[in-house]
Amino acid sequence: MKIIHTLSEMNAEILKHKPHKQIGFVPTMGALHRGHISLLEASQAQNQLTVVSIFVNPTQFNNSSDLQKYPRTPEKDLEMLRKSGCDIVFMPNENEMYPQPDNRIFDLQNLDKVMEGKHRPGHFNGVAQIVTKLFEAVPAHSAYFGLKDFQQLAVIKQLVEMLKIPIQIVACPIIRENNGLAMSSRNELLTFEQRAQAGIIFQTLTQIKQFWGKKTISQLEDWAIQTINANKLFNVEYFEIVNSRTLEKADFEQIDDGITACTAVFASQVRLIDNVQILN
Ligand code: AMP
Repeated sequence: MKIIHTLSEMNAEILKHKPHKQIGFVPTMGALHRGHISLLEASQAQNQLTVVSIFVNPTQFNNSSDLQKYPRTPEKDLEMLRKSGCDIVFMPNENEMYPQPDNRIFDLQNLDKVMEGKHRPGHFNGVAQIVTKLFEAVPAHSAYFGLKDFQQLAVIKQLVEMLKIPIQIVACPIIRENNGLAMSSRNELLTFEQRAQAGIIFQTLTQIKQFWGKKTISQLEDWAIQTINANKLFNVEYFEIVNSRTLEKADFEQIDDGITACTAVFASQVRLIDNVQILN
């Protein structure tokens, strides 16, 4: 497994292989778990060469203590990637990715204004900054993203279409712990008790399917918020049932784009996000 730290070396490596090999790319912020490895495996199944990047992108954090606390386990990550047969790891440092401040502002067509965007101002602009830089360094044929970050996926698809970046975006299913909690690097920051009980988030998201059509959208959202908040370990930041394409509030009359229930929940200071597709 080759480990590369600079943009120029990374780019040269891709250009060397691109004429002969189908290349897949998996961007991550490290502290890897089975969710990340499932993206690597999806790429390996469809490509002859897979690049995984590990970079904790400061511009997508709107809270400096969240950035500081973000788990970093580089040695363990490299071991997992080696065992999983990854071909190339791209691990740049901050100066390599941001030699100067990145002042670009992206028009993300309102996809960045709702849900995560509303509660984490500037987050998706930071995501757009790093993803465009990474796609330039790693001009792979396909890039693999998890549905765990449902809104991020919508933003990245929009970005690629808008900027006509020639890369196929592949959406991969959410990998969960036994109790239903979506795997996340942030789960490492939970207490034993919080982690054990956090399955309530997935259970509540899933139950929306049973009530679908029997209550109004607002009633469903209110019920879900009350259900999760009834457990004193958790505090819902938002719970929204949205059109899967536009991310606007769902409407019973407009279901062609699919419907997704999305939530962000605090367990003390740890922020967990999850979503479940209600209609496809
Ligand atoms: P992160 O390191 O959190 O930025 O995530 C890197 C990629 O892994 C993103 O595309 C995430 O959506 C994806 N990912 C994170 N957790 C999971 C999971 N539990 N299941 C599937 N994909 C995931």
